[in-house]
Amino acid sequence: MPLPSGARPSRRVPDPLSRGDKLRLTRLRKFLLGWYADHGRSLPWRSENATAFERVCVEVLLQRTRAETVARVYPVFFGRFASWDDIAETPVEELEEHFKPIGLWQRRARSVKALAGWVTSHGGEFPATPEGLAEVPAVGQYVANAILLFHHGQHRPLLDVNMARLVERYVRPRRLADIRYDPWLQEAAAWLVRGDDPVTTNWATLDFASAVCLARTPRCGSCPLSWTCPASLA
Ligand code: SF4
Repeated sequence: MPLPSGARPSRRVPDPLSRGDKLRLTRLRKFLLGWYADHGRSLPWRSENATAFERVCVEVLLQRTRAETVARVYPVFFGRFASWDDIAETPVEELEEHFKPIGLWQRRARSVKALAGWVTSHGGEFPATPEGLAEVPAVGQYVANAILLFHHGQHRPLLDVNMARLVERYVRPRRLADIRYDPWLQEAAAWLVRGDDPVTTNWATLDFASAVCLARTPRCGSCPLSWTCPASLA
């Protein structure tokens, strides 16, 4: 049928993921959820009682730090601070003291304090879109996804080098060096967590990448995915 005069044909944005990519990512998600049930780490912020405040705050602390290291300061820190309000009312120097055992304490204290200051002056709510979160201080793509995942219950990937490594090895490599801007990797990570339980899928991915699909010495010989993984060294 001819288009009405003056109308432009709609331009479809090409899907970066092939059908094969989607099938592999779906298979990987199912595998990871099964693997996590037996091998997932028990970390305090994964408890059913942990709040969205705790989980978002922890993601700020986890950047460039091992989970076990953050777990050591968790009981004291979240015993003292139960909400963003508590942090907003606290001098940054006190926050720094809490973060000294995990390093980068000044940066972490400033980030947490900036987040607390913003959310407490906006009625306790974070924006529910990446565009809105771009206006919030101390929020890069990773923390924005953590807020959308934990605070707003959206299907968002905690895409860091660990998730990127596993997805790239099991499906295919990205094209751009920076994971934040590679459209294929962004879509692949989003597809990975699009099932019923995006939170557990994220945790399973990070645990598997740090226990089996290690950066320098992947344990392909004992990896249950090795028979179908193109990057397997087994
Ligand atoms: S086979 Fe090796 S490279 Fe592939 S997912 Fe397993 S550990 Fe990673």
